[in-house]
Amino acid sequence: MPELPEVETTRRDLLTTIGRRILGVDVYDRRLRWPVPRELPTVLAGARIRAVDRRSKYLLFALDRGTMIVHFGMTGSLTALKRPPPRRAHDHVDWRLDDGTTLRYHDPRRFGAVLWTAGEAGAHPLLRGLGPEPLERDFDGDHLWRMARGRSLPIKSLVMDNHVVVGVGNIYASEALFRAGIRPTRPAGKVSRARMAVLAASIREVLEAAIASGGSTLRDYVNGRGEAGRFQFTHFVYGREGAPCRVCGTPIRARYVGQRNTFYCPACQL
Ligand SMILES: [Zn+2]
Repeated sequence: MPELPEVETTRRDLLTTIGRRILGVDVYDRRLRWPVPRELPTVLAGARIRAVDRRSKYLLFALDRGTMIVHFGMTGSLTALKRPPPRRAHDHVDWRLDDGTTLRYHDPRRFGAVLWTAGEAGAHPLLRGLGPEPLERDFDGDHLWRMARGRSLPIKSLVMDNHVVVGVGNIYASEALFRAGIRPTRPAGKVSRARMAVLAASIREVLEAAIASGGSTLRDYVNGRGEAGRFQFTHFVYGREGAPCRVCGTPIRARYVGQRNTFYCPACQL
């Protein structure tokens, strides 16, 4: 599933589309997680792309009228193609730009979304009420500590809660908790303020390292240039059950935390 680093990697690849005008939109299959709005081709035709932003795992295309919101769901990807090959299965939407580029949305499982709003993107029901961005200044250990006070849910579930901080999905929550030396099942309210500072720094580090590696490709994620990510090769714990811990050699364990498969080192994480 594309997480924040994968969406951010795609965003950076698609900055080349800023200033381009959308000539036309071809919607081949509207049946995504929510139906692609019927009016999309009409409202977008002739619109210019002013900015490509990200909020949580949503890509936001600021246009001269409204904002297009794209989410990759489980298996979505958005690629800028200089010479678009013929449509493959699961290519659902094409945007034809005025420099000859085609932006193409591909999504085998169709849990993603392509939406449009005339108003402020931040006021959209999907984006309203989201917590801080993990790479921005308003996210730190004190914020995590305040959100965790008196709560008994596992620390991993806390950092994966979008109201607490956005964009820390299953892979990067596991990796950040390893780096911070915190067991994923530890009750959130029992993690000290000092350890929360370490955890917040670890979340930043792991996300930034993943972005620098072009994200993780576990199944079919590709970036805005159609390339796979490389961060999966440097995972310390995620997907490594039974393999030796890269730090101490103890076999990595897996268990379910909040219904999500979770990986940790029983020696390094307490
Ligand atoms: Zn270890």
